[in-house]
Amino acid sequence: MDYGAYHLSRITRILGVSRLLPGRTLGVTKDKWKWALGKDGKFTKKSVRDQIQKSRVGSFFVIDWNRWVPLKINLFGWQAEIGRIATSDALFKRNVVNKIIWCPLCEGEKESAVHVLTSCYVATVIWQFISSSCGLNPVYAFDVRDLHKIHLTCGVDKIKQNALQAIILTACWCIWKARNEAIFNNKRVSINIIKEDIKRLSFLWVKNRGKLVDMSWDS
Ligand SMILES: [Zn+2]
Repeated sequence: MDYGAYHLSRITRILGVSRLLPGRTLGVTKDKWKWALGKDGKFTKKSVRDQIQKSRVGSFFVIDWNRWVPLKINLFGWQAEIGRIATSDALFKRNVVNKIIWCPLCEGEKESAVHVLTSCYVATVIWQFISSSCGLNPVYAFDVRDLHKIHLTCGVDKIKQNALQAIILTACWCIWKARNEAIFNNKRVSINIIKEDIKRLSFLWVKNRGKLVDMSWDS
């Protein structure tokens, strides 16, 4: 006699569980968690991102303009958010190219704005570097819009918010610059050079344009 099945049927009868789950048969095997949004029940960041994207269709988002970085940096951040930068997938959709290339930064996924600026290995290292340098909780960005909101939710004063937003916009620009160097000049991607670029440019812009004369990178 199968004692496991015998006890289970007694318990479900006593608790009336079968009435709560009509059409379901309880087994004696161990329960397992399944991720409903992913293939094969497995959790992936992409499945979460896709779901968030779907739920945002038609929503309206206004980007804060940052006066401490040059106009072209703000424009790049805005165009990345609305999917207007010249990534391979965007050019393919407009019939400018006939195939989508692999991301030149990591060569691990097809190129898109969201991938290059958020989920690419290079981008994740850069966001980790910025969060630890600025004393923030780890940055988890599922799309470009999330990057535009980090400074609003990090619990710092207005001046630090502006500085952080300037650093994030500069980082997006520097990642994109490294991507262009890899594609058009065949340059090897160096995360250390991207980090140094971000530090140098954001420090220069925030210190001069933000008039924070006594500022240092560590502050
Ligand atoms: Zn990549």
